[in-house]
Amino acid sequence: MSQNLFSLEGKVALVTGANTGLGQAIAVALAQAGADIAAAGRSSAAETGAQVRAAGRRFVEVTADFADASCVGRVVSETLDALGGLDILVNNAGIIRREDSLNFTEEDWDAVMTVNLKSLFFLSQAAARHMDAAGGGKIINIASMLSFQGGIRVPSYTASKSGVAGLTKLMANEWAQKKINVNAIAPGYFATNNTAALQADEKRNTEILSRIPAGHWGRPDELGGAAVFLASEAASYVHGAVIPVDGGWLAR
Ligand code: NAP
Repeated sequence: MSQNLFSLEGKVALVTGANTGLGQAIAVALAQAGADIAAAGRSSAAETGAQVRAAGRRFVEVTADFADASCVGRVVSETLDALGGLDILVNNAGIIRREDSLNFTEEDWDAVMTVNLKSLFFLSQAAARHMDAAGGGKIINIASMLSFQGGIRVPSYTASKSGVAGLTKLMANEWAQKKINVNAIAPGYFATNNTAALQADEKRNTEILSRIPAGHWGRPDELGGAAVFLASEAASYVHGAVIPVDGGWLAR
């Protein structure tokens, strides 16, 4: 066991959707704890790369559009080629579509389910095949409050994030004996692009804020610590957990 339980020195982390928001904050926190970072996504992650390199770690970008899950094998092999390993996978990329359930379209259903759930599962499978052969690893899925609650006007998002919680437990059941820890972080309400519409809606913004015991929207950097914990030796006996980081939202 490492002298520092939380050190990620010598580890390689693959983070999806690391160009912005929560994925960027997680990538930077993992780098500050010692990990080299591969950022997989469809937009330039140059800003994240600058922060990772400033922390003294290696950084590569892997082009990937998770609207088509067939890219997952290439994403893993390009990470291995560029950084020589894959110890930590953070499945963060995700989208949301808002519409009354009476009007919700099949297109909005399929788009969200593919990025948030199908690609998450098959990327985890591709990573776990490598981790199994390598003797272990860590998989961290980004869930949601809607892994626990119903929400409104986001049926495919709720289905996908409830699915993420279920798949996290299933993968943990199958892979814990392979020394692969599969867990999830369920963020509360964080100020990112994903929640821009809610923050801009004065009524919803007031309703949400009034329910958060901490009294403010989460800042992306407030999520990094949970990711470092789950990626580290400190979490070696944590399997199948869905950990809320929500300013107390679920406690209310
Ligand atoms: P965000 O700023 O919108 O970031 C979403 C990330 O996913 C971006 O990097 C985005 O890339 C990437 N992405 C989306 N579709 C993709 C695709 N087809 N292929 C590759 N990458 C794709 O939102 P965020 O809040 O940071 O969200 C990150 C994760 O946290 C999501 O899974 C979200 O559901 C979850 N979450 C967020 C909150 C919150 O309050 N913010 C709460 C609970 C859960 P582009 O920039 O190229 O679009």
